[in-house]
Amino acid sequence: MNRSASSRRTKTAIESPSGLMGDSETSTTAWTSTGEGRRRGQEVSRGPEETDQVQQPRFRLFSKAAALAALATLVITPALDATSTVLPRSVSDRPDERSGPQIHVMYVVPSDGADRALDTDGTIAASVKNWQTWLHGQTAGHGLFLDAYQGELDVTFDRLPRTDAQYASRGVFIRDAIESDLRAAGFSAPGKIYLAYYDGSSTAACGGGAWPPALVGNVAAIYMRATYGQGSLCYTPSLSLNGLQIMDFAALHEVMHTMGFVPTCAPHQTRAGHVSDSPTDLMYAGDQPWYPSVLDFGRDDYFDAHIPGCLDLANSPYFGATQSPAPPPSGKPSANYRLTVKVVGPGRVLSAPAGIACPRRCAAAFSKGTKVTLRPRSVKRSRFVRWSGACSGSKRCTVVLSRPRSVSARFREPAGGSM
Ligand SMILES: [Zn+2]
Repeated sequence: MNRSASSRRTKTAIESPSGLMGDSETSTTAWTSTGEGRRRGQEVSRGPEETDQVQQPRFRLFSKAAALAALATLVITPALDATSTVLPRSVSDRPDERSGPQIHVMYVVPSDGADRALDTDGTIAASVKNWQTWLHGQTAGHGLFLDAYQGELDVTFDRLPRTDAQYASRGVFIRDAIESDLRAAGFSAPGKIYLAYYDGSSTAACGGGAWPPALVGNVAAIYMRATYGQGSLCYTPSLSLNGLQIMDFAALHEVMHTMGFVPTCAPHQTRAGHVSDSPTDLMYAGDQPWYPSVLDFGRDDYFDAHIPGCLDLANSPYFGATQSPAPPPSGKPSANYRLTVKVVGPGRVLSAPAGIACPRRCAAAFSKGTKVTLRPRSVKRSRFVRWSGACSGSKRCTVVLSRPRSVSARFREPAGGSM
């Protein structure tokens, strides 16, 4: 039972607790041991859970129901607007528009893998735009500095030297192999984090990231052809073109790890770089399914938490004002903040003042300070279970828009019902 998982985790320090979501959801237990072992510079502890992690369907996060709920409700953000264009293919990093730390996006394909041209058909640019736009909404217009050229995302294509099977054989350490191959190909500029959309397979994880200082590295990766559970694909490229999807969150999640989040000094840090306080958190890992919708739930761990001496995204050199300037004010002085609602299960959420009627319309901007009341409405005798995010409990919820807020509403099927 205690199979290869433990031996695999006794690699050198450059090997990563790669997980991704993988990491979160199911490899969590392994993650714990992996991360802690590395931090102590020791061999990694092993336990029965660790084994299970390898053998079970890993991505609870991606359970069918969760994925469907996520897809049904996360399609909030139009992906590519009409003015976006995509640069032609480049196999090198084009001249940078900005100096300093930034995220450089890549489309990388194993030596024997099919080239789906996701760098030039807009898919990868859409995925990046999806998570960056979400970040803007969470932070009032801040995001990660992205490597761009002529105003467009600079995506580099790289044909990797190993076969799909060779990478896949690395199990949860595919990321480490990609990183070493990209370094050898010259992708190692100081201050750059490379986000690799890897068009290859894995049955061990949907992606991976570094986690300095325990695991120093410059590559975050998602494995686009990876599968979880009964063979469900981790990433379906066409979905990013329709708007924010869970794998876009995963890409951001891995970049966050590679920037050093969540640091061990954060109060809810758990399982090697994650937080435990809400499954809606971008960096959650734990036993519940992952429903990412909030950047640092409670703002007490890694964003605007202001814990002395503790890494905070608000102070990260990779983070700053990145949203294009708003159009000139039209006589409306006060700022608008976005309220984002997610409905999980059969039900609806309505707002007063009007604006939200989720799942049809799940986000709206309200002027600063507005008190918005949200009401759950069951459909077909479903039952409202509870709020999470900016609200809690199971009664009516009132949110004050002193900053962007996110709320999730969970409904349950009527007893004996079926979907
Ligand atoms: Zn993670």
